[in-house]
Amino acid sequence: MPLINNDAEHDPNRILPLDYDWARDYYQAGVNNNWVPEEIPMQDDISQWNGTALSDAERQLVEWNLGFFSTAESLTANNIVLALYEYVTAPECRQYLLRQAYEEAIHTDTFIYCCDSLGFDPDYLYGMYERVPSIEEKDEFVVNLTRAINRPDFTIDTEDDVREFLRDLVGFYVIMEGVFFYAGFAMMLGLKRQNKMVGIGQQFEYIMRDESLHVGFGVDLINEIRAENPGVWTDEFGDEVTDLITEAVELEKLYAYEACPDEILGMSAEQFAEYVEHVADRRLGQLDLPEQYGTDNPFPWMSEQVDLNKEKNFFETQVTEYQSGGSLDW
Ligand code: FE
Ligand code: MN
Repeated sequence: MPLINNDAEHDPNRILPLDYDWARDYYQAGVNNNWVPEEIPMQDDISQWNGTALSDAERQLVEWNLGFFSTAESLTANNIVLALYEYVTAPECRQYLLRQAYEEAIHTDTFIYCCDSLGFDPDYLYGMYERVPSIEEKDEFVVNLTRAINRPDFTIDTEDDVREFLRDLVGFYVIMEGVFFYAGFAMMLGLKRQNKMVGIGQQFEYIMRDESLHVGFGVDLINEIRAENPGVWTDEFGDEVTDLITEAVELEKLYAYEACPDEILGMSAEQFAEYVEHVADRRLGQLDLPEQYGTDNPFPWMSEQVDLNKEKNFFETQVTEYQSGGSLDW
């Protein structure tokens, strides 16, 4: 049974027997990670936000990341439901997409919760992508990669169509969730390490745990489609994907330098840029593409949080690291 809709033979309403055990494994790993933002108290964050605990630069960092993520989570959810779901017809993959869509709803709820508890003006927060050019550029970069499959008449008939579909997967799973999200995670977890906005930081930790599964599923989906459609992933297409990822790294560096102009939290924009390169190399490796940077991880504590190396084979470690239901127990 193909993952995508280029074969009318199979019945999308029969999940058993499974063809893709890995998709089912991601579903169960997602269930083990259940959480809701309301579990996390915001009292300390509220008093820090209303007091003098944070510098102007730190406040801007919080606002920009909430602004970026609130829109990005919604774009991601819409891409699953409105674009991907129709074409990923394997029932166990659809089951995971439904789970992921639910998790994106939880992430969206997180920003409602933060907005409410900190008393943000919703127009201010949700208009951030329009006011901050480096946020808008990131969103537009990803959305542009999905234009083709969003056309109402798009169907997957030719190898070119499969490549269009893969561009969407690369855009959302590898670039949006896999690269753009991770600099924001480092920023918010960096604040938390300094005991600043700990409630929001903890929510970002839960989100990051979910996102590491989303990225893993997306990469496995890409690699499965690639294996099932051997003519599609040409050297030329591999080069194109590499170029997309390196372009995304440049956009993310721009964002890091604007979001974090002065050294704060003992972390500099240069370090965020290095971190983005480090993460991008890992994504390239997951797609069997050559690494482009060879940059060391400037934030070793990020890999203690969610070891990027573990994303590839997290099932081996999930019993101790992921089976914690609502509690965060790394
Ligand atoms: Fe998300
Ligand atoms: Mn996600």
